[in-house]
Amino acid sequence: MGKWISVAKARDQSAVGPDCEVRGWVRTRRDSKGGFSFLEINDGSCFGNLQIVAPGELSNYADEVQKLGAGCSVVVVGELQKSPAKGQATELHASEVRVIGWADPETYPLQKKRHSFEKLREWAHLRPRTNTFGAVTRVRNQISQSIHQFFHENGFFYTNTPIITASDCEGAGEMFRVTALDLERLASSGGPVNYEYDFFDKPAFLTVSGQLEAETYATALGRVYTFGPTFRAENSNTSRHLAEFWMIEPEAAFFDLRDDMKLAEDFLKRIFSDCLNLCDEDMQFFDQRIEKGKIEQLQGVIEKPFAHMTYTEAVDVLTSCGEKFEYPIAWGTDLQAEHEKFLTEKHVNGPLILTDYPSTIKPFYMRVSDDGKTVAAMDVLVPGVGEIIGGSQREERLDVLQARMAEAQLDEAEYWWYLDLRRFGTVPHAGFGLGLERVVQYATGMTNIRDVIPFPRTPGNAEF
Ligand code: ATP
Ligand code: MN
Repeated sequence: MGKWISVAKARDQSAVGPDCEVRGWVRTRRDSKGGFSFLEINDGSCFGNLQIVAPGELSNYADEVQKLGAGCSVVVVGELQKSPAKGQATELHASEVRVIGWADPETYPLQKKRHSFEKLREWAHLRPRTNTFGAVTRVRNQISQSIHQFFHENGFFYTNTPIITASDCEGAGEMFRVTALDLERLASSGGPVNYEYDFFDKPAFLTVSGQLEAETYATALGRVYTFGPTFRAENSNTSRHLAEFWMIEPEAAFFDLRDDMKLAEDFLKRIFSDCLNLCDEDMQFFDQRIEKGKIEQLQGVIEKPFAHMTYTEAVDVLTSCGEKFEYPIAWGTDLQAEHEKFLTEKHVNGPLILTDYPSTIKPFYMRVSDDGKTVAAMDVLVPGVGEIIGGSQREERLDVLQARMAEAQLDEAEYWWYLDLRRFGTVPHAGFGLGLERVVQYATGMTNIRDVIPFPRTPGNAEF
């Protein structure tokens, strides 16, 4: 038995030496006329493969080694040497190749031929074995790590908000119900639903945001953030919406909109620079094979300050630019994807922070500005993806908040605890929500959000 090392480690010249063991899956086998074989092994630890030189003298050479193909799992022991070949620093000269699991080449779906991302979604259980999905998974992991590190370094406490909730934070009504009632019996009884017989004695849902609960902790611990799953039953079959996605929501006390914008910008820059510095091989792949020029684009994003514009200025730009839009734009309407696309891709060609939206198109908790018409909201838009962050300064004045809730026809009694935060020691505070998958999309250049989460949940699809 040798000493196990990862392929990532074995690909580095500092690891050369006798008695190395690697464990992974065969990508390809090539038999040489000289009576030996080359195996390319990948174990997921990095993008690249390790080349194995398997000599004909191995006792199982003819019986097993020469039958190995894509997908087989193996343990290889041997001497790690400097490689004379171009494009790889090392190669492993095998003294033992142990086959752990076979993969029938007739039925294994991931043969050498390239498959479309659509096809690979049908094999979501096997696609992590491909170059693209391995790279996406490692970059997504890095981004998650960077998020925790960034907030930790900036004095934010990681906290968790409930996944089951009885309040609809966005007021959008696009929520999944959670019930323990027997729906089939209910349907056949034909009677009205009595929630008193349900688990929580009232209607309950999967959360669309942990913000309101996060505010309670921000007004005690100062700075907090959540990082958890979020659910939206919106029937939008787009390349940037999932029914289940991961959201990061920082919330800070004694913060205003400017502080919030700065936090969002520093935060995104940190994420992208970590991707470039710590996932070099994977980012090279995205740059060459997924979106040409991605690395340079991200470098530009890190170096330059983000563009800022108010909603009102954006509407002026959109109405006077001469571009034909499918959805007409006028002050007071919500921006559509095509408008965001124009602003980020054609007008500023980079990230854009849009602020001060009309109160009528934003939720009740956003702070009303002195003009009485707009709220202290900010969205961060990026080329290709659109909105990746939505945030705001929260309304800290009890009377103004109550008036906004009345307008939105929300029952004060249900939000008694939220209003208490304004009754007892209220402070200006602000926060935002970042969709993890949207930021992974932007960092990697992957065009469909279904390809940056392991098992996407979308209308009509909950396989795996
Ligand atoms: P959009 O306008 O793109 O539908 P939203 O305005 O509904 O987004 P928010 O409620 O502000 O989004 O949520 C905060 C963040 O969560 C968004 O900026 C985005 O990054 C992410 N997000 C929202 N909805 C989804 C979704 N269905 N799938 C993936 N990410 C989402
Ligand atoms: Mn939003």
